[in-house]
Amino acid sequence: MAKHALLSASSAERWLHCTPSARLCEKLEDTSSTYAAEGTLAHSIGELQLKLALKLITKRQYNSAIKAIKDNELYYEGMLDEVEEYTNYAIETYNEALSKTKDAVIFLEERLDFSSYVPEGFGTGDCIIIADGELEIIDLKFGTGVEVSPIDNAQLKLYALGAYEKYGFIYGIEKITLTIAQVRKNNISSWTITASMLEEWAENELKEKAELAYAGKGEQTPGAWCTFCKIKANCRARAEASLNFYNSHNEDPHLLGIAEIAEILGQADVIEKWAKEIKLYALDEALKGTKYPGWKLVAGRSNRVINDEDALANVLVETGYTEDKIYKPKTLEGITNLEKVVGKKRFTELSVEFISKPPGKPTLVPESDKRPELDSAEEDFF
Ligand code: SF4
Repeated sequence: MAKHALLSASSAERWLHCTPSARLCEKLEDTSSTYAAEGTLAHSIGELQLKLALKLITKRQYNSAIKAIKDNELYYEGMLDEVEEYTNYAIETYNEALSKTKDAVIFLEERLDFSSYVPEGFGTGDCIIIADGELEIIDLKFGTGVEVSPIDNAQLKLYALGAYEKYGFIYGIEKITLTIAQVRKNNISSWTITASMLEEWAENELKEKAELAYAGKGEQTPGAWCTFCKIKANCRARAEASLNFYNSHNEDPHLLGIAEIAEILGQADVIEKWAKEIKLYALDEALKGTKYPGWKLVAGRSNRVINDEDALANVLVETGYTEDKIYKPKTLEGITNLEKVVGKKRFTELSVEFISKPPGKPTLVPESDKRPELDSAEEDFF
């Protein structure tokens, strides 16, 4: 199986804007998410549905492969229908192409090499349709977060470049359409450019940036693309951009002016996001043993829980407390209310076997916090 490319198409938006990011992330562990695994499963379904529609596999082969997919824990009812939106679009586009010319061709899960412009660059095109000097590349997206646009989409432009390198000469391709099929967001949208525009971009912009990225050179440039960067939490450039974005207008030496507050508000979400990420990162590192000067790990706040509500209720009723006193309309009162009804001391005596207090979630707090310091060894918490 091919190894993961350093300058992958899926991360191109990031390394094209911030060229050193690829090398900076290179040695960090790939924490593949459930979403990514779900996307991979959806791609397998899409490929099977297309192969069946194109009669490249039999119904029996399809059923057997789908049966295995249904055993995957990430499979859910409705997944086949969702992916079918992509399949239907691809088949309709292919049929339309066939109606124009019987020479129309379709390629599925094609390995695309764009290494003439991007060192070691390759990727996989989900579906490519070529007819009459036009090439359309259709990319299945299974995410439900941000809506993905095909316009100037770096990932699709790289796939298109690979497809153009492979088939451009053979089929005399002049026009290229990039299509995003983001099925769970009802987003099937396309963008068309000429082959010469794509080549121009590749020669004049992509090549130079890819060389810088491959060499790990250039300037770290923060922006929206940081979201998918493995060093987003401890990146110096991002921290400096978040902390030093504001230049005082000095309208008033003591109070911020309306325009200044407006400027700060404009950056507030970016700072908040960055701050949350650095807190999560620092907690994670602290749990692994990193000691941050002035900070310590402590048990977070936690509440007592009743382990066996029925047993405690039985004891209280047997002791003489009526049910309307100790029960909420349907559930047992919380510990504080039960203490009020029964009396703190007596309740403690009656409930001692049924109440426990789990350890609080580890939290990083300033050293001045009164709670005792926890050992940072990970086994203390798991
Ligand atoms: S976090 Fe952003 S600025 Fe920093 S290396 Fe990654 S992409 Fe570049």
